[in-house]
Amino acid sequence: MNVQHRSALLPAMSMSKALKRLQRQMGLEETGELDPPTLTAMKQPRCGVPDVRSYQTFQGDLRWDHNDITYRIMNYSPDMEASVIDDAFARAFKVWSDVTPLTFTRLYDGTADIMVSFGKADHGDPYPFDGKDGLLAHAYPPGEGLQGDAHFDDDEFWTLGKGPVVKTRYGNADGAMCHFPFLFEGKSYTSCTSEGRSDGLPWCATTADYDKDKLFGFCPSELLYTFAGNSDGAECVFPFVFLGETYNSCTTEGRSDGYRWCATTKNFDQDKKYGFCPSRDTAVIGGNSEGEPCQFPFRFLGNTYSSCTSEGRGDGKLWCATTVTTTVTRRSGASAPIRGTVSSGS
Ligand SMILES: [Zn+2]
Repeated sequence: MNVQHRSALLPAMSMSKALKRLQRQMGLEETGELDPPTLTAMKQPRCGVPDVRSYQTFQGDLRWDHNDITYRIMNYSPDMEASVIDDAFARAFKVWSDVTPLTFTRLYDGTADIMVSFGKADHGDPYPFDGKDGLLAHAYPPGEGLQGDAHFDDDEFWTLGKGPVVKTRYGNADGAMCHFPFLFEGKSYTSCTSEGRSDGLPWCATTADYDKDKLFGFCPSELLYTFAGNSDGAECVFPFVFLGETYNSCTTEGRSDGYRWCATTKNFDQDKKYGFCPSRDTAVIGGNSEGEPCQFPFRFLGNTYSSCTSEGRGDGKLWCATTVTTTVTRRSGASAPIRGTVSSGS
């Protein structure tokens, strides 16, 4: 972010005069001294409106010219269920509407004051994102067009702050969130698992103890559903044909935005039906198989793994293979398993 230091342009101002201006702005006694109440006020978190106009991130009047603000959620991260993301934004806006005259109304089409979107790298404005970590999101000050908008870097793995947020489907828990860790046949699980199933579908318990409560649901998987696209949430069909090639998993081929998709019929070329693949909580972040689900069990250096492991790494981060066997080493061209860290590992 470019901070414009404009203080050099202002007439020289004495320290005590500047402090008095700040104190007036903050409703404090105008002592002109750096007294404890002033210091305390200076340390409080601020929004983007400057205390006194000696410097500011953006030029101009940083206010909405109306109080009934609208917002629109343009797309979703594959990391969390759409309803969870909707709810997170609604709660975030409520933090502001509770303490300001502003109201925030969600629009489902047309142009809203605040257009919220997720994107990777080049996402249609002059400020590309930078891959995982680093820049997480950015927003523009109030105004028309791009102004007011908020962009989130979808090369990050988005959660509600406490590890993967996994909303279940089907099962018997009425769509409850996964409870991590949970016990299943005496073993503790910190991510969705396909243990105990022959169809490979990942599932989780929605209480701490499956053995006792028997409550469970299925975890996000392209074998169960897709989102957005034009298939109304239908699951992927594997293999599918795209531009004459056959695909056995979700792919980013044919897209410049880096999102994983699949066809929802056997032949995309014919039917043009597709959807985006949800991220699994055991999907790879980083590594060379970004977004692909871990394949359990997988073999590495002669051992079989049914969950993520830190074996073979010096940094303690968890990783998994996205292919079933030792092609791990062959495909990455090295004996060290730097295929990626998973969400539960970092
Ligand atoms: Zn942007």
